[in-house]
Amino acid sequence: MKAIAVIPGKKNSVHLRDIPEPKLDSVPEGRGVLVRVLKVGVDATDKEINDALYGNPPPGCDYLVLGHESFGVVEAVGPKVVGLKVGDFVTATVRRPGGSIYDQIGTNDMTSEDTYYERGINLLHGYLTEKFVEDSQYVVKVPPGLKHLHVLMEPMSCAAKAIFQAFEVQRRMKVWRPKTAFVMGAGQIGLLSTLVLRLRGLEVYTMARSAKGTLNSQIVDGMGAHYVSTAASPVDKLAADVGKPDLIIDATGSSAIAFDSMRVLGKNGVLVWTSITGGKHVTQVPSDNINIDWVLGNKLLLGSVNANREHFEMGIKDLALGEVMYPGVLQRILTNPVSGLDSYKEMMRLLVEEKGALKVYVDVAEL
Ligand code: BGC
Ligand code: ZN
Repeated sequence: MKAIAVIPGKKNSVHLRDIPEPKLDSVPEGRGVLVRVLKVGVDATDKEINDALYGNPPPGCDYLVLGHESFGVVEAVGPKVVGLKVGDFVTATVRRPGGSIYDQIGTNDMTSEDTYYERGINLLHGYLTEKFVEDSQYVVKVPPGLKHLHVLMEPMSCAAKAIFQAFEVQRRMKVWRPKTAFVMGAGQIGLLSTLVLRLRGLEVYTMARSAKGTLNSQIVDGMGAHYVSTAASPVDKLAADVGKPDLIIDATGSSAIAFDSMRVLGKNGVLVWTSITGGKHVTQVPSDNINIDWVLGNKLLLGSVNANREHFEMGIKDLALGEVMYPGVLQRILTNPVSGLDSYKEMMRLLVEEKGALKVYVDVAEL
């Protein structure tokens, strides 16, 4: 069957190749689920992998099948699978367990080992192919009423985890009633984080470079948040106008902005970093100022990566609630489909060149 793959470590090596079909019984104890792939999304991580900045092939293999944002339909289930049946819409988690205690309790996203296993990213093949087989414990059902949001399940899981973690760590405050949040970046994670925070009743200011009126600003407005163009109004001005926020989510892909955000966090607040920056940028920061401000303000910095099954389930619930609260807004994130696995060049071109693309995805097959 066809697959879109790269040669990790080799720049711009994206290509189409033929790979063997997966077998249901490759998963032990009858827990296998065979999924026919319908759609797969790509993001900055796939771009970095194709830029040879990130990612590794499975051991003994020189290529890596790309794709970690999956959406498909169950075609067969092993005899011991419960809760999933043929015809169900599904997505699958990305990370598989290593050996740490966190992996053993189902929180693979929190592994304490240096080596992590992620489908389509690191050491495991991904979903940009016609079919995949997965252990049912990593397959998550998507309600039929959300099938039009297909490839958003995985990015949403990462936003859901980041914000859930922020609330978890803020239990240190005994009472924490965040009122204001800044979201840095209005790409897919920024927009989905905006949604999660709006659903929790926060006043949300979502920032990006582009001018007001662009699609991402319309989506932000559609969720009852405030879009701020940093080109027109720098973050310091916003902080002066509306006060320093209780929570900042950085999803810009820029480590400079991630650090710069430290200057505007409110007292007792939390700053969450979500960007995967595979480059080698060096940034100067006003370290004395930040240091004293963070100590005197009891502030907290939190990194958040990946998502486990529970976060997928949380994210799916928030997408459902989001559809009820802001009907029709979320699907506007799904900007740039390409047709079929053969269109891999167009997929990568859009990912690299199309600045207005909020989500590039491959329509792998019709239902
Ligand atoms: C993926 C995550 C993954 C992270 C780091 C992101 O693009 O969505 O699932 O953990 O990259 O590899
Ligand atoms: Zn991703």
